[in-house]
Amino acid sequence: MKKVFCIGELLIDFVAENQGSDLSKATIFTKKPGGAPANVACAIAKLGGTSSFVGCVGNDPFGSYLLNVLKENHVDVSLAQRSKTFTTLAYVSLSENGERDFVFSRGADKELQYDSSLKKDIKGNMLHLGAATALLGGPLEKTYGRYFFDALTQGAFISFDPNFRGDLWKEEEDLFIKKCMPFIEKSHLGKFSLEEARLLSGKTDLNACCDILHEIGTKIIAITLGAEGTLLSTANSKLTIPSVSVKPVDTTGAGDAFIGCLLQQISTLKDTETILENTDLLVKMVENANKAGAITTTNFGAIPSLPTQEQLRALV
Ligand code: ATP
Repeated sequence: MKKVFCIGELLIDFVAENQGSDLSKATIFTKKPGGAPANVACAIAKLGGTSSFVGCVGNDPFGSYLLNVLKENHVDVSLAQRSKTFTTLAYVSLSENGERDFVFSRGADKELQYDSSLKKDIKGNMLHLGAATALLGGPLEKTYGRYFFDALTQGAFISFDPNFRGDLWKEEEDLFIKKCMPFIEKSHLGKFSLEEARLLSGKTDLNACCDILHEIGTKIIAITLGAEGTLLSTANSKLTIPSVSVKPVDTTGAGDAFIGCLLQQISTLKDTETILENTDLLVKMVENANKAGAITTTNFGAIPSLPTQEQLRALV
């Protein structure tokens, strides 16, 4: 089984309890672990895969809490770093009109330093790059690029999720697109939401989005479509693979569960590159990954809702 190194941010989401009021009025917040790459690492480990989280938290109680959550979920945190800078915090509320009110207090996640020992571990393994904060600058952005380069030179399987957050890239969408391009060019697998696929390809039609993203370079494209499932596109085929019917209560983390489940399955292949040629197997894997996403919507919070293999098998 290959190990999946998940690079990026781990942070605290402070979610306002009294939804319907913006942050200026919110008084009670619940502390939740956040960060898409960390969620993906948990999703892989919970399904029985091997994952390592590579990111930085503060040398403070929030950082300790976050690393404990990953350890409890059997994620290897030996490559995680601690910084004097405080743990990154995000405050989130839904205002009366349903708009997300968001304050981002960026701290330690940006401090991730390059560790040359990882280069040899990447060889023959897999790298998942989740980009929500990584492309915002700081040492993390450089480190992220260097690990990407290491993965390319070591022949690792590379997965990329742009994780576009409008709150973080207001009026700088062109810069975000430019920064994503090298990753789209060289990744084996790209996971995009509908919004991201359209933003990054400059097209609205889904087929055209896939064509452009393939032209740039990504070999396997998965565009997640919520309750409708996933559009899977490879060099040979494009098909929408429906999800399963569930009663969603909180969709946070569905995309991370999806890509985590897909990567966990690919990690069991002796030669990961073979998945590029085997569309039938890929379709089966996406069916499972859809289930993982669906299950995650049926409970509150991302990490606590990620499925086990038993839950996946039980969902028909
Ligand atoms: P995120 O908001 O976490 O970045 P995303 O927008 O990338 O997520 P979604 O499309 O919401 O991801 O969900 C990922 C997958 O989970 C979907 O492709 C689908 O298979 C499954 N899924 C999500 N929502 C539902 C739902 N309401 N019912 C059934 N399946 C769902």
